Formats: sequence, structure tokens, C-alpha cells
Amino acid sequence: MSQSLTYRHLFGPGPSNCYPEAIAALGHPVLGHLDPLFIEILDATCNGLRQVWGTANARTLPLSGTGSAGMEAAFVNMLSPGEVAVVAVNGLFGERMCEVARRTGAEVVRVDHEWGQPIDPQRVAAAHPSPKVMAAVHAETSTGVRSDIAALGQLKGDALLITDAVTSIGGLELRADDWGIDVGYAGTQKCLGVAPGLSPFTISDAAFERRNKNPQSWYLDLGLLGGYVGAASGTARTYHHTAPVAMIASLEAGLGHLLNEGLEAVQARHTAAGVALQNGLQEMGLELFAAEGFRLPSLTTVRVPEGVNSAAVRAYLLEHFSLEIGSGAGKFASSVWRIGMMGPNANPASVILVLGALKEAIA
Ligand code: PLP
Repeated sequence: MSQSLTYRHLFGPGPSNCYPEAIAALGHPVLGHLDPLFIEILDATCNGLRQVWGTANARTLPLSGTGSAGMEAAFVNMLSPGEVAVVAVNGLFGERMCEVARRTGAEVVRVDHEWGQPIDPQRVAAAHPSPKVMAAVHAETSTGVRSDIAALGQLKGDALLITDAVTSIGGLELRADDWGIDVGYAGTQKCLGVAPGLSPFTISDAAFERRNKNPQSWYLDLGLLGGYVGAASGTARTYHHTAPVAMIASLEAGLGHLLNEGLEAVQARHTAAGVALQNGLQEMGLELFAAEGFRLPSLTTVRVPEGVNSAAVRAYLLEHFSLEIGSGAGKFASSVWRIGMMGPNANPASVILVLGALKEAIA
């Protein structure tokens, strides 16, 4: 039991440490999921999510499940067998999108890019003349790269644009409506500073009308979930599944912290922390992995120096500083580290802690 009470500095690719308000809310009494008090919390959560998504979409909700549930919901609701989805791939999560889309029976047109580089919106848009869906990851957590979703939104034509904002929401500029995002999903455990368990999800009315009306998944059927978000989507509030009330109360509290500080101020804090970390790593003589100009502030990728054992350094940090950083993803598992500066962790003290600890671990 005492093991589970150990405090960890979570500087990996997520989960991050949480805002105190989000943790405190987990200790509140559990409410019934149709209790008027809980409905107020749910409505406030949906409103807060609209702000961090940059959307007026009525159907903006905390989906029950992690970011991958959001990904699954996006594809399973938008695609029917035989329809075409163009998917931009520049890392692990773009690859996962392809697999999730494939399982719907859709024809997947995969547009590969070098890992560490952003997607090329022109190439993605030119990959097929009339896809039902185009999909891309805004912030590729596997490589630490930001892609230009607004540019893809301008080129999408009649396609519906699905965007993964798991590592950008709350920490990076994200303007779903202005950028032409039709369907978006995210996660709570990164820049929102809340524990994992929910997927902030948004879908425009136009995209909702063009959905698969009989998706293979009952649990993630957005048509049925409309009743669960209730008044926010213009339908009566009915039981669909038991909402994870404690997690939603925690998300509401975390969003409260974030919006109270101010969305732009929080984004600026993430940017400052990311830039300071990246400068500090380079001053230590380390080489950054992601292409310059497209580096995420929330997630920095750095090459493991020649002759250094990646796993041994991570184990040292955990043992001596109770500090977690991430290994690389895919074929870069042992040659890249991933360092998150997310949520409450995006601050100057974190930067000094990580740089100092890493210097000692490498020495
Ligand atoms: N997409 C991206 C960009 C991610 O970083 C992650 C998780 O790290 C996911 C999707 C999947 O989210 P989850 O692990 O919460 O299911």
C-alpha cells in the first residue's frame, strides 16, 4: 500500500501530474449520474471542453474511456465498410489510426512521412480524389512533432477532418472550428492536468449528419450518446451507460483551474517550459529529435547520447529522483527519450529539476 503512495514527478509522455483541484475532486462523495447536481457538473465540463477545443459544437463531451476510445469513436462513427479514409502517418499514433480505421472495413489510404517530421498537408490532400475522411495527429507524442492542422483543414474539400489532439489540448493553440476540424478527440492525462480515463470529444452537426447511423460499437455510438450529454445536444437526457462521475467531477475541477488561469496564459506557460527545456538539453550537448520549427513544447524528444544506456538512465531517475521520463516509441525505443512538460508540470522549476537530474544520471 505504501508503495502506491509514492509521489512521482511525471515527466514522461503522459500521464502528467495533475492540478490539485482535479485530485481533490476525486475525494468528493460520489453522485448518481442523473442527479441534478451531477448534471450541473457535466454541463460545466462540456462548456469547459468547448473552450479548450475552440469550438461551439453542441456535441462536445467527455467520452468514457481514454484517448484510444476517442480515436475508436471517431472512426467507427464516421466510416462504413468500403468508404475511403486518408490517414496521415508520421508516428505511432497515425499508425494506430490506420489500424482502427481498417477494422471498420473502410479502405485506408495511408500517407507516410518520416518520423520526426510534420505531415505535408498538400500530399495528404492529394492522396485520393474523394475520401469520406481525412485524419491526422496534431501533436505526435511518439516523435514530439506538431503538424499544421489548419492547413489540412483548408485543403480537405468535402472530406471530414478527424484530428487527434491528445497531446495538444489545453497546452497548445487549438481552434477546432477555425481550423475545419469536424471530429476531434483528446485525453485528460496530458496538458489538461487530470488523471487518465476520459476522452474529450467534439463533433460538428454537419459531421454528425454524415455519420454511420448503425456503427459496429454500441458503447461508442454517438447517436445513442446524444441522450447522455442531454440538453447540450438538444435531446432529452436519458440513460445510456453509467457515467464515470468521479472522473468527470475531476475533469471539471481541472478545467476550472486551467480556465481560471486563462487558456492563453496556460499555453504560454507550456511554450516557455518546452523552449527552456529544449535549450537546456542542447546546452548539455544533447541532440533534439523532432524537426526544428515543429517541436512540441508539451513533449520533447531527445536522442540518447552514444554509449549511454537509455533504460539505465530512466531507472536512475526513478530511483534517485522519483522522476519519470519516457523511452522512445517504435524503432526509436532505446535511442530517444521523451520528456513531457504538461499541465501543472509546465513551469521553470520543472525544467531545472529535469535538466539537473538528467545531467547527474548521464554522468
Ligand atoms: N493519440 C496520441 C497522440 C497519444 O499520445 C495517445 C496516448 O499517449 C493516444 C492517442 C492514446 O491515448 P490513451 O493512451 O489515453 O488511450
